[in-house]
Amino acid sequence: MKACVYASPGKVELRNIPEEPIERGKIRIKVAYCAICATDAHVVKRGLWDAPLGIVLGHEVSGIVVEMGPDAGGSGLKIGDRVIGSPLRNCGLCEQCRRGRPQYCNAYSDMVFGGMAEYKVYDQKNLYKIPDYLALRDASLIEPLTCVMRAMDLSNIQQGDAVCLSGCGGIGLLMLQAIKAKGASRITVIEPVAEKHELARELGAEFVIDPKTESVAERAFEITSGLGYDVVIEASGAPVAAPVCIDIAGKCGTVVYFAVYPTDFEMPVNLYDLYSKELRIQTVYTHPLIYPRAVDFASEINLDRVIGIEFPLEECVKAFEAFDTKKYPKVVLRCSEDELL
Ligand SMILES: [Zn+2]
Ligand SMILES: [Zn+2]
Repeated sequence: MKACVYASPGKVELRNIPEEPIERGKIRIKVAYCAICATDAHVVKRGLWDAPLGIVLGHEVSGIVVEMGPDAGGSGLKIGDRVIGSPLRNCGLCEQCRRGRPQYCNAYSDMVFGGMAEYKVYDQKNLYKIPDYLALRDASLIEPLTCVMRAMDLSNIQQGDAVCLSGCGGIGLLMLQAIKAKGASRITVIEPVAEKHELARELGAEFVIDPKTESVAERAFEITSGLGYDVVIEASGAPVAAPVCIDIAGKCGTVVYFAVYPTDFEMPVNLYDLYSKELRIQTVYTHPLIYPRAVDFASEINLDRVIGIEFPLEECVKAFEAFDTKKYPKVVLRCSEDELL
């Protein structure tokens, strides 16, 4: 089958690879769509998670069940079901799993990759059936949506809270809609790419701050009548965007550092400033048990508008180039030509 692999540092390649054998408790899906995640690009560019050369990239997957392994019926899934795949694994038996922290399962430190291929074998526990009204293309964004929902769960946004979001990439635009759905007010985005401002407004931003041409702090206090934001969420992952988030948070505010920052990035913070406003700093990892809720929440979010461009699997090299331009919020690979998709 065809697959997009991490060929060498900085390079992806379309290769023909053998299909994985199917084992006990496993289910094979025909991949419909796989979205490119920033972490895929980090793997290719800087070897994130020590990913080995030759692995098939991709973990934001939707598809159709085509083969059931022995004893895979416990999931209730059957051939023909439309599903999404989760890249997270948890054993349910280790100390972390038993203490309610399955995202830190001791048995698995790696994610399930391999989504940018014609077929993919999953453990039955990692597949979730999606409703008929959800398009398979849109459903490929459910994995990033679960991360956004984890941020919402931890950010504790109250209705009417003034909320600012830094960064309007693909995940930022999902976050923006989730913030709106929470009933936030004075929703503001900080985004240096002018081409993204209009879409941000369309998807819920009341105010847009361009950090290239305006003082972020000045505008932020103007918008919040001098109070600062109740919640600030940094989703750009750019070190340069990180410090100001603390400055523009108000008294008793929360700053959520959502993105995956460079591993050597350190940011000085003035603890007196934090003390004087009783500020809370929150980071976000992930949580495997959000998937069922994300499947239901997906229809409340305009996922189609977040998908900027689509390429067939054969053009995966072009797709990664398009991702690198940062012009498109989300780049999606169409992995099957099946008319039913
Ligand atoms: Zn992802
Ligand atoms: Zn475990």
